[in-house]
Amino acid sequence: MKQPGFGTRSIHAGQEPEPVTGSVMIPIFQTSTYAQKAPGEHTGYEYARTHNPTRAAMENCIASLEGAKYGIAFSSGLAAITTCIQTLKAGDHVLCTDDVYGGTFRLFERVMKKFNVEFTFCDLSKPENFEKNVKSSTKILWIESPTNPTLKLLDIEQLSAKARHKNIRVIVDNTFMSPYFQQPLALGADVVMHSSTKYLNGHSDVVGGILVTNDSGLADEYRFLQNSVGSVPAPLDCFLILRGLKTLHLRMQAHQKNALILAEYLSSHPHVESVIYPGLASHPQHALAKKQMSGFGGMMCFRAKGGLEFTKSVLSKTRVFTLAESLGGVESLVEHPAIMTHASMPQKIREALGITDNLIRLSVGVEDAQDLVDDINQALMG
Ligand SMILES: *Cc1c(COP(=O)(O)O)cnc(C)c1O
Repeated sequence: MKQPGFGTRSIHAGQEPEPVTGSVMIPIFQTSTYAQKAPGEHTGYEYARTHNPTRAAMENCIASLEGAKYGIAFSSGLAAITTCIQTLKAGDHVLCTDDVYGGTFRLFERVMKKFNVEFTFCDLSKPENFEKNVKSSTKILWIESPTNPTLKLLDIEQLSAKARHKNIRVIVDNTFMSPYFQQPLALGADVVMHSSTKYLNGHSDVVGGILVTNDSGLADEYRFLQNSVGSVPAPLDCFLILRGLKTLHLRMQAHQKNALILAEYLSSHPHVESVIYPGLASHPQHALAKKQMSGFGGMMCFRAKGGLEFTKSVLSKTRVFTLAESLGGVESLVEHPAIMTHASMPQKIREALGITDNLIRLSVGVEDAQDLVDDINQALMG
């Protein structure tokens, strides 16, 4: 049978009506344990850290959207990333892109290094850096594309082929694009990781994470760690993410439409030095963006024409855009990476990555485009 389309799967995958009552929406199974008929005689459900039907529906739905068989959910994106590293042992090495999410950098550098797992951060948007930095002990290649916040792209297909050749597991943080615009497993990756806090849920009211894969052995290992380590998501949060997923395809189209309008508008604004958006022909990797993504998403950055003081004044004047960390919700957010999301990164590294004092990041929401344009304009014009 032909696989249903993305929108159909986002609404139905993993979600049969509940068998007892016929409830069309998957109920919030708010329970910690399940009754047994006789000792050891149970329905397959014993204890809620191990199994929860609301969680299972959400896992199966996201797996289906990524073209995967298995999904394993966690209490946050960082809990999902932690689990990826917990499959390693002391002495193993991880090769990671340098322009990585700030929290991922902090987890690798300041937590996981203590357990003698080794990390190398390098600019993997230049594929030759793979050969320069790979070691015989490399077990995981960690890819984020587009990167955060400067929206560099990594060639997922090319890097995955190189890693496969050396038996290195490829994990892609697909948070920025969502499965609607980018399908890393089809490009050769082994695992996709999401902070479902962002576009998957889409309404800025949940923190969550997930790993998806087609590798049954790896899925078993992640499932074992999910239960053994215990950073599982709450049933209500799973319900909310499931509800958000139903409009993922519609939201992503709307995010992208607004982001393109804004990117084009800001490109010729007198108080803007430059705009970074993969959907603009001016993006240095626009061709790769068109090759490996089916759209360009809702994240963009621009550099204000001015120093820190001017940039801060712009950030404090927006009214429709809320000044806040995070991204991927229906509402527009603006933030200052150097002071906010990437403050955990040493200043020297920030500067080398282009996270300058005049860099502003936008998570473009799905409000009316003209209101977003007017808002940024009035903030820039002071
Ligand atoms: C937010 C985010 C994370 C971390 O996820 P949490 O849900 O906040 O733990 C990881 N990667 C990217 C790209 C993110 O945006």
